[in-house]
Formats: sequence, C-alpha cells, structure tokens
Amino acid sequence: MQRLFSLVCLLLIATAAPVRAQERLKIVASFSILGDFVRNVGGDRVSVTTLVGPDSDAHVYSPTPADAKKIADARLIVINGLGFEGWLPRLVKSAGSKATVVTATSGIAPLKLGSDADPHAWQSVANARIYVGNIRDALVAADPASAQGFRDNAEAYLAKLDALDREVREALAKIPPSRRKLITNHDAFGYFATAYGLEFIAPVGVSTESEPSARDIAGIITQIKAAMIPAVFLENVSDPRLIRRISAETGAKVGGTLYSDSLTAEKGDAPTYIDMVRHNIKALTSALAN
Ligand SMILES: [Zn+2]
Repeated sequence: MQRLFSLVCLLLIATAAPVRAQERLKIVASFSILGDFVRNVGGDRVSVTTLVGPDSDAHVYSPTPADAKKIADARLIVINGLGFEGWLPRLVKSAGSKATVVTATSGIAPLKLGSDADPHAWQSVANARIYVGNIRDALVAADPASAQGFRDNAEAYLAKLDALDREVREALAKIPPSRRKLITNHDAFGYFATAYGLEFIAPVGVSTESEPSARDIAGIITQIKAAMIPAVFLENVSDPRLIRRISAETGAKVGGTLYSDSLTAEKGDAPTYIDMVRHNIKALTSALAN
C-alpha cells in the first residue's frame, strides 16, 4: 500500500512538472487563428509558431526564408485547407519538411463560392469545434505520452466554445430580422451567415486577392439602397477605402471593424479566437440592433 501510494505521488509529480522546452512538440500553424487553437489544446506540451501573424492576410502571403526554417524544424504543420494557403505546399516542399500536415477543416462540409470552396470555415463556432477535435487527434497521434493532457485541454476549450456559440445566438437574437444584413469587404462570413442567420454582402469576393470592378461597386451601391442595408463594416485584413466610399455614397453607416481572417496582437481587440468572435458580435449588435 505504501509503495502504491509513493508510486501514485511520483506519477502526480511527473504529470504536474512543467515540460522542458526541448521536449515540447514543435508545431507550425499557418495563421493566427489556428495558432490559438493549437495553443489551447497543446498547452505547455507544445511550442507553436504561426507563419501569417496578427493582422496579416493569409490569402496573399509571401513566405520568407525564416518560414522555411520553421517548417523544416516542425513535427506538425497545421493548416486550414480548402484552398486558403495556396502558397504553403511549395514552402513545405522547398523546406524539405518531413512534418505531418494536419488539415484542420477535415470533416467540414465546405460552402461553395462559385466553383471554389469557401475557406473561412472557422467563422462558425460549430466548425471551430471540428478544428479543435482534428488538432487534438493530431497531437495525440504525434505525442501519445501526452494524450491525456491534450484530451483534457481540448475538453475544457470545447466547453468554452459551446458557451461562446450560445453567446453568439443570444446576442444576434437582439437584432430585428429586417436589419440582419450588412456589407463587409471580402466574402469571409459565409459560414457565420449560414450558422447564425445574417446576410453578408461583399464587393471583393472570397479572396482579398481580387479587386472589385467599377461595375461590381455600382451594383453593391444599388443593392444597399434597394435593400436598405443599415451598415457596412471594415475588416482588419482589407483596405478600408472601398468600404468608406460605399458608406459615403449610400449613407449606410460604418459599423466598425470585423475580424475575419486574422487575430490581432496581444494588446488589440482580438488576440484570441474567443475574443475575436465576441468583438464581432458586439460590433454587429451595436450597429444593427436598434
Ligand atoms: Zn478571407
């Protein structure tokens, strides 16, 4: 009995001891939102680097030599998939990486925008749960000795996401149905719109890479006036001038900034995914719910 007790104590000490830096699983996440998910599931058992950092646009990213080094050292590379990181396969290949590539959207039914899959699946909190489950399973497979820790972290984080999903629904229920429509710069909120019943119209399309034509913009302006769309929103990854011009020409007010494809730095409005979603629903309800 005494021996068993000491053994249990030893085990408890071993699991509670902080993991030394060199033993941490090295993971590269393609962009900031994935980096946040990986940190939540991996805790102190992983060391996470993101390629496309805060307030940066993953659609049009140009990898640097430092990124190739990060990729070469990684055990896992976590990507969104659905065509979001078009620049990544070449980078992985040129870095000579043997890392396992984990597609976080695996199992999500993609929405279509024209013939392309819409990559912005993280904007529905239900989908974020799938991302987290995929990340948990990949971490468990890569480091089975830490499996219980990863599972516990994931469970705790998934409970927070459940609460967040309820928070979004309760907040948006305050917007009268006739006012649940708005303009954003690029088409990043399709999954959010489908999950939560808002209508988003975007002049730019699914990637920030394309530019709207004068005819596209004229069409949007007509649409805003006809549908009496109450507000237009800026995005942290897109050029604000177009949205300001549309606002000036239609009288729709600028409802603030929505965070679509990137988190902010630590001191910004949206340093984590949960902060990002909360910021967005606050911006939406304060512009639309009156
Ligand atoms: Zn986007």
